[in-house]
Order: sequence, then structure tokens, then C-alpha cells
Amino acid sequence: MIKIKSKEDIQILREGGKRHAEILLALRAMVRPGVSTKALEEESRRLITEGGDTSAFLNYQPSGAVRPFPASLCVSMNDEVVHGIPNEKEKILKEGDIVCLDLGLIHKGLITDAAITVGVGKISKELETLLEVTEKALMAGIRAAKGGKTTGDIGVAIERMAIAKGYGVVEELAGHGVGYDVHEDPFVPNFGQAGKGDGLRPGMVIAIEPMFNIGSRHVVLDSDNWTYRTRDGKPSAHFEHTVVITKGESEILTKI
Ligand code: MG
Repeated sequence: MIKIKSKEDIQILREGGKRHAEILLALRAMVRPGVSTKALEEESRRLITEGGDTSAFLNYQPSGAVRPFPASLCVSMNDEVVHGIPNEKEKILKEGDIVCLDLGLIHKGLITDAAITVGVGKISKELETLLEVTEKALMAGIRAAKGGKTTGDIGVAIERMAIAKGYGVVEELAGHGVGYDVHEDPFVPNFGQAGKGDGLRPGMVIAIEPMFNIGSRHVVLDSDNWTYRTRDGKPSAHFEHTVVITKGESEILTKI
């Protein structure tokens, strides 16, 4: 069931989204060769706690997951698509990597979800383009997200950007309603058909999150039971914002 958020709830989400964006900005500034992904995790916890808020991801266990997520920040590098787990020993950033920082924040009981993918030091032109196009696809999806439109309209706008570049669009994972829970209805795929899917109504709060692969669209679940990787081992990028649907342009709550 799709839940419509009250004006009061949206006001809380707005404040949470602002804090969310500030944390992502602070983490982005830490990204450089030699930094451990665990250090990013620790800083995210410190910043969340400092604001009096809590992580929406730490210990999150959706139905079907064999164990709770063990961190407050998903850190997914290179061929890791989403839900990567920070690790002090094995996951150290190095020059030329790309790293996705995905945070879920609970502010006064309400949840925002947003992610950025960042280059570590100097990255290849191919990766620079991947990041640029995936972020542009997120913005195209957001522009398509209006009251009276559908989740299919968002999917089409996003998918079009990937097709133009020959990127694979991940199908198993998608955007979603958010606010009262980490994942709510509707399911917001990054592909689709115009006018199909669920209708968008003012007051709906959704996370839009394209995941584009340089190679094929296929993903596999790692033996850690959380990390999704590309099946062909090629890099993947992910950008995400939480938005409120209105009659006109949607409002980005986690705007950076
Ligand atoms: Mg999400």
C-alpha cells in the first residue's frame, strides 16, 4: 500500500534530508587514496550521532535477508553495485577506484535515503562518463516524477540515458517509497513504459536510484549475503535522492 505523508511529516523529512546531504558531503570530502572504507563508516556514525539521529541501515533486516546489515553506510566499490559492507582490511580506496556512499538516516522517526558515487583521485574518462551519465539519469528521473505521472514515466526517463550510452540497467534492484520504512511501496524501477506502473500522487515520498553498469545489466549476490556485484566484474555507478511528489516539479529532500 502506498502511504501519503502529512505536511508535518514532510517538514520533518525536509530537515532530515538537509542533515543527510550534509553528512554525504562530509564523507565525500574524505574520499582519497589510502582511506579505509571502515573510516568512512565510522565518520558516518559519528556525524549521525552528533546530530541526534540514527542510521536506517544499521541492523536493517528486510524479509528475505539472512542477516541484518552490519553498518550504517553502504560502501560499494567498482564492480560492487549496492549494499557493500565497509571493511578495514580488504576495502581500502585506491587511485582510480569509484566508490558509492549510500546512507539511510532516521530523523525524528522518519527516513531519508540517498547515495552518491565518487571517483578516488584521478579516474579514467570511461568512469568519469559513467558517473556523469548516471547522475544525469537520476535528475531526469526526478524531473519525470510529478503528480499524475507514473513510476513507468520515471523508469523510461532513466533508462533512456543508459540506452544512449550502451550501459546495462540493473533490474533486480530499484527505487522505492520511503519515509516510515526503509522500503515502502511503490517499487520504482529504472526502466519501464510511459504511463505504466503505479500512479504518482502529491504527498508520496520516494527514493529514485538509477544503477548503471558499464557492461551487462546482470548482478550477483556476494557470499556475504548483502553485496550485489556486476556478474561480468565491470564497474557500476549508483546515485539516489529522496523526493516528495507534488502537483508540479518534485522536491528533492536530500539535495546536495
Ligand atoms: Mg534506496
